[in-house]
Amino acid sequence: MKRSIKSHGKLVGLIGHPISHSWSPMIHETAFKITNQDYHYATFDVHPKNLREALKGLMALGIVGCNVTIPHKEAVMEFIDELSADARLVGAVNTIHIENDSLVGYNTDIDGVVEALKPYREQIADQSVTVFGAGGGARAAVYSLISYYHPAQIFVINRDVSRAELMKKFFSDSQNYNNLKVVELHNLDEGNVIESSRLVINATSVGMSPSPDENVMTADPKDLEGKIFFDLVYNPVETRFLRDARKKNATTVSGIDMLYNQAAKSFEIWTGMSMPLDKVRAKLDPRFIAARVTARRKTVVH
Ligand code: NAP
Repeated sequence: MKRSIKSHGKLVGLIGHPISHSWSPMIHETAFKITNQDYHYATFDVHPKNLREALKGLMALGIVGCNVTIPHKEAVMEFIDELSADARLVGAVNTIHIENDSLVGYNTDIDGVVEALKPYREQIADQSVTVFGAGGGARAAVYSLISYYHPAQIFVINRDVSRAELMKKFFSDSQNYNNLKVVELHNLDEGNVIESSRLVINATSVGMSPSPDENVMTADPKDLEGKIFFDLVYNPVETRFLRDARKKNATTVSGIDMLYNQAAKSFEIWTGMSMPLDKVRAKLDPRFIAARVTARRKTVVH
């Protein structure tokens, strides 16, 4: 019997653990469709113990590149052949591209943070900023703040203080930045730190679906007028962190703005083309994506 062999185009994807929350597949698939490119975006749930083998597998399978999400953004650095200048300065990778048989690591979360905060540049300069979290996303946020927004000081609040201290040392060594102060999560100082900050960022995964009722911030200031609250978590689009802040008159910025902008940069690295961001956003209704992601989660077998 004669079989026809169909080309399945080029493959990019996402490695993380878990990955079912991610909206990246829909954003990239939509962009490939609009730009008429024969690429596909696959998701790979990779346990941390299999990370090295998974990256070897990417090379062996001829995959063009991938995004990297929780919890691998820092750990993946060890297995990368070359780092872009930004990824080296952040100490985290969220995009890999295979170039001349080498794994090259980039950090497009920086582009995401910088774009999402652009309207607030003047309000942030010379002010205090608080960042909850000390993982890969937090590193991109802190790097973007230091390099593009020049706040007076940055408080990093994290559950694991030693991880935040490592980040502090990293930015002191690599950027000569010495205005980063570490605070333990749920420490009594949290209220004062928030009170004194113009911008408060959640770069932890707390509040992410399927636990949308959680808020990493336990301090309960009365009024947040004049403050900006930015959540890296984008699923749900308005997290509890943002909802609570909005009710107290803060300006809120959803992680969705960052998500689209980091995706556009990854798309450009893989394909050499600009992502038509407005067209992609116009096609994707957040409620539709959320429903698709929920359906996908129900079908995941662990
Ligand atoms: P990560 O490297 O795994 O770091 C996770 C961070 O969350 C750590 O600071 C961790 O604290 C903290 N955390 C986790 N569970 C916690 C809990 N129950 N209580 C308190 N803190 C907790 O992850 P990541 O890559 O930085 O991502 C963090 C979040 O940002 C994820 O939801 C991710 O989807 C989102 N993100 C969004 C975008 C976007 O484009 N919008 C881009 C990047 C990341 P410990 O250090 O104490 O464990």
